[in-house]
Amino acid sequence: MALRTKKEYFDSIKQLKTELYAMGERVSDPSTHPCFKPPLEAIGLVYELSGRKEYEDRLTTHSPFINDKVNRFAHILLEQDDLAKRFRIARFMVHKHGACIGARCVSTSSLNAVFAVTYEMDRELGTVYHSRFLDFLKFVQKNDLAVCGAMMDVKGDRSLSPGKQTDPDAYLHIVEKRKNGIVVRGAKASISGAAIANEIVVVPCTALQPGEENYAVCFAVPSDAPGIIHVAEAPAPNMRRLTGDEMDFGNARYGTHGSTHVIFEDVFVPEDRIFMCGEQKFAGTLVNYFALLQRLATSGCKTGHRDLLIGTAAVIADYNGIGNARHIREKLTDLYFQSELSAGCALAAVYSARKSPSGVFFPDPLYINLAKLQGVKAIWDGNFITADIAGGLVCTPPTARDIKNERIGKLLTKYFKGRKDVPTEHRIRMMRLAEYLSGQGSVVPIESTHGAGSPQAQRIVIQNTLMSVIERFKKDVKVMAGK
Ligand SMILES: Cc1cc2nc3c(=O)[nH]c(=O)nc-3n(C[C@H](O)[C@H](O)[C@H](O)COP(=O)(O)OP(=O)(O)OC[C@H]3O[C@@H](n4cnc5c(N)ncnc54)[C@H](O)[C@@H]3O)c2cc1C
Repeated sequence: MALRTKKEYFDSIKQLKTELYAMGERVSDPSTHPCFKPPLEAIGLVYELSGRKEYEDRLTTHSPFINDKVNRFAHILLEQDDLAKRFRIARFMVHKHGACIGARCVSTSSLNAVFAVTYEMDRELGTVYHSRFLDFLKFVQKNDLAVCGAMMDVKGDRSLSPGKQTDPDAYLHIVEKRKNGIVVRGAKASISGAAIANEIVVVPCTALQPGEENYAVCFAVPSDAPGIIHVAEAPAPNMRRLTGDEMDFGNARYGTHGSTHVIFEDVFVPEDRIFMCGEQKFAGTLVNYFALLQRLATSGCKTGHRDLLIGTAAVIADYNGIGNARHIREKLTDLYFQSELSAGCALAAVYSARKSPSGVFFPDPLYINLAKLQGVKAIWDGNFITADIAGGLVCTPPTARDIKNERIGKLLTKYFKGRKDVPTEHRIRMMRLAEYLSGQGSVVPIESTHGAGSPQAQRIVIQNTLMSVIERFKKDVKVMAGK
């Protein structure tokens, strides 16, 4: 079996004995929890689409390691074109789910980074990590597993390296070596999809110095391994999931992220799952490989998110009757320009990619970092542009319960109507989607944007004032130029 169905993936997560907490309570079945069902559905969608003929070429490929079809997220990138395809599926999938598929997406970075570094370690040190890792890779590919990547330690005092922390557990490390494996302790922060992944690949968080060998540890464990505790992230909008109606969520089906803080409380890792154990010199290479690929993945993913921002802002402008206004088009063009600049840099990184000694291709470091940073800037600017275009209702819409209320429902439906041919509910739903996509967990940014008048109102006053003084400025420069 090299491709699973969505149901098989769901069943595999249900069978786990994960120690998972959300908002202070133990979660026995993430598939029914309001904050974990959405990312499960998003990952389930990858399984579902991968099984369809029309997406076969986009989402699946041939693995030489198991001589069978595999999902592209679990593929080893031995061709330059694999990088381009990986970038494009991130954007493609986000158009469909608008959320996060970390337990599949980060598989690429973690599997490829460990593949490449274990190859280099074996070559230089004569270790057997690569052949061990190949067994794990084949297990993942044959069973089409969801694998997350846990790099980020909680890190304690950021000015101190792992070996100098007051609490040695601030970075995950080896606490005991046994004949048949190791025991590790520490905590990885905000790991996307960790509780709804089948396996967790753990890598070091930073380059390490001599003396920090116990922090140079890389391994794979099932996400419910004894001693692992998951604590769910709790961004403000997740709270609404506990009480609200699906109309209030913006992206009801897929729109929670589903990361967990993963605590390793003396977890035993058997020998066949250990891929680095004390080789401090190679930690930096592993971190670098992981980061390069994750920056490629996120550049694709965030380009997809910005496409959704553009679509949402444009639909709201249509619903408000101003879809053809010049300043709206200019703002959307600015967002698209910034977004595609990031996508272009990512593709430049792909087409100037370098082949590592193992044969895995990694994106060019300069261009992929340009892509990531420009993408971050474009997301923040895009949030502002979307909020600007959408109006203050992004943070103040009435709830589904208000709309259904006998006394006020009809009034709200009448007064919150935009263009006459657009039902009020459609307009409010789109505002909620804008709220979700632009990350508005509090009223502060939108109230700051639209309270006391929308930005365009200030631009008009500023432009009028400029026009009243511009002739004087022009006269001054002509004098200065001597004409
Ligand atoms: C939703 C979400 C999902 C995530 N998913 C994953 C995942 O799947 N896998 C994974 O491994 N990680 C994941 N992460 C973690 C992510 O990689 C980190 O949040 C990120 O690298 C920043 O680390 P931090 O949050 O500890 O912030 P910090 O490192 O504390 O950074 C805060 C600020 O401190 C500065 N700073 C840090 N150290 C120093 C220093 N020594 N000197 C000077 N300045 C310093 C930084 O530049 C930054 O400006 C996720 C994070 C989020 C929010």
